[in-house]
Amino acid sequence: MVLVLNAGSSSIKFRAFDAAAERLLLRGQIEGLYTAARFRASDAAGATLGTHEWPGGSPLGHDRALAFLMEFLHGRVDGHRLVAVGHRVVHGGLAFTRPVRVTPALLASLARLSPLAPLHQPHNLKAIEVLAQLQHDLPQVACFDTAFHRTHSELAQAYALPASITAHGVRRYGFHGLSYEYIAGVLPRFDARAAAGRTIVAHLGNGSSACALVAGRSVASTMGFTTVDGLPMGTRCGSLDPGVILYLIDELKMDARTIERLIYEQSGLLGVSELSSDMRTLLASDDARARFAIDLYVHRIGREIGSLAAAAQGVDALVFTAGIGENAVAIRQRVCEQASWLGVRLDAAANAAGGPRISRADSPVAAWVIPTDEELMIARHTRQVLAAAGDGRAAP
Ligand code: ADP
Repeated sequence: MVLVLNAGSSSIKFRAFDAAAERLLLRGQIEGLYTAARFRASDAAGATLGTHEWPGGSPLGHDRALAFLMEFLHGRVDGHRLVAVGHRVVHGGLAFTRPVRVTPALLASLARLSPLAPLHQPHNLKAIEVLAQLQHDLPQVACFDTAFHRTHSELAQAYALPASITAHGVRRYGFHGLSYEYIAGVLPRFDARAAAGRTIVAHLGNGSSACALVAGRSVASTMGFTTVDGLPMGTRCGSLDPGVILYLIDELKMDARTIERLIYEQSGLLGVSELSSDMRTLLASDDARARFAIDLYVHRIGREIGSLAAAAQGVDALVFTAGIGENAVAIRQRVCEQASWLGVRLDAAANAAGGPRISRADSPVAAWVIPTDEELMIARHTRQVLAAAGDGRAAP
């Protein structure tokens, strides 16, 4: 069994796959790690395998949550011995262009990247540290959200800042790479022309970004130095004139942490609508603020698709993925209508039916709905890293 972990600040999401890293065995999460914690696991078909709740008052924390999970897995998954754990790690900096086996030296170098992703990286690493203490001989593999974008040109990665600032690592990294890598991997099965050509993938979830692929390689991403850049998201603002930050500091007397909360947690669909960060709720609402938040989301996606088309020097296909991309018929319709100038001709019936192809046969640019699977990607990478290491020792 290969365990895949996505450890955040307040929750740990997990999935377990068979040792071949192909078949999902179970999935679940522990939420409320520092409030009132809740555990839930279900099998691949969604049937509940276990639930547990801890009373509030004394926080469970990452350590006890992971100890509980390991105990649960130990007793639960008959005949499947845990062979490795794969982690989603948000930042691999410039050095890590592929997944790597965890060693103490690796952990130390990843910890140095925490200032580049303070809301995610420390929690990703915490889970690795806790598991290493619980079971020091358990192989662990770090899979990076940035790695797939290391094919970007120097130009695509650069900010027009003084070289002395760039030298600190202030450049565009791009994120959601595991999702884009998965899509690039399955695209040939859907659209051989686009897989060999130019594709824009819109990963639209609570976190939203878009990426331009040329012959399956990432050439540009809407996310930059951090995961707050690019498209508006559930609670993140997306691209912002840096002058706004100065205004917030100078005129509204906000400090860094207040601004951090504002741009990561209080903006995006939630901030604009003042109702919800959840697209389903906004689509079901007849409140004018919900409509405006959706209008702005679609408008910004349209603008970014134009920018990515320029980066790829054209478009053969547009792919929708993640929670909104896979499920929100109305959002896909509006994004495709906005991209009609590029040659996207929507097939409304196919879109309503969920695809996979949602463009008309005569559409110059194909449009697709392709479900992503970042966890499967992590499980496969984990298995491959261990297989490449042969004896299970650290890969270089
Ligand atoms: P995360 O980035 O947390 O992985 P997801 O990819 O699960 O997020 O996407 C969550 C988003 O998908 C939410 O805004 C949710 O409302 C939206 N979503 C899920 N199902 C639907 C649906 N049927 N219609 C519209 N939006 C949906």
